Amino acid sequence: MQVDCPNCGKKVEWCDASKFRPFCSKQCQLIDLGEWANEEKTIPCGANKDQETTELPSIEDIEALLAEQPDHFFKED
Ligand SMILES: [Zn+2]
Repeated sequence: MQVDCPNCGKKVEWCDASKFRPFCSKQCQLIDLGEWANEEKTIPCGANKDQETTELPSIEDIEALLAEQPDHFFKED
């Protein structure tokens, strides 16, 4: 009997020799486990823990950050 690896779709023999069945390899098993683990651990690394968005800062945000800097920080003259 053969099954398809849930991660890569490779044929896996369903027997004691296939230690990672239904996955074809330990790598595929870890990738699959890692994917759902990552979904549980979507904690932003920033200080603002209430903000769960992982979007990149917008142009407005960057401009606001730059505006907070002293003028000489980004002006060459
Ligand atoms: Zn696989």
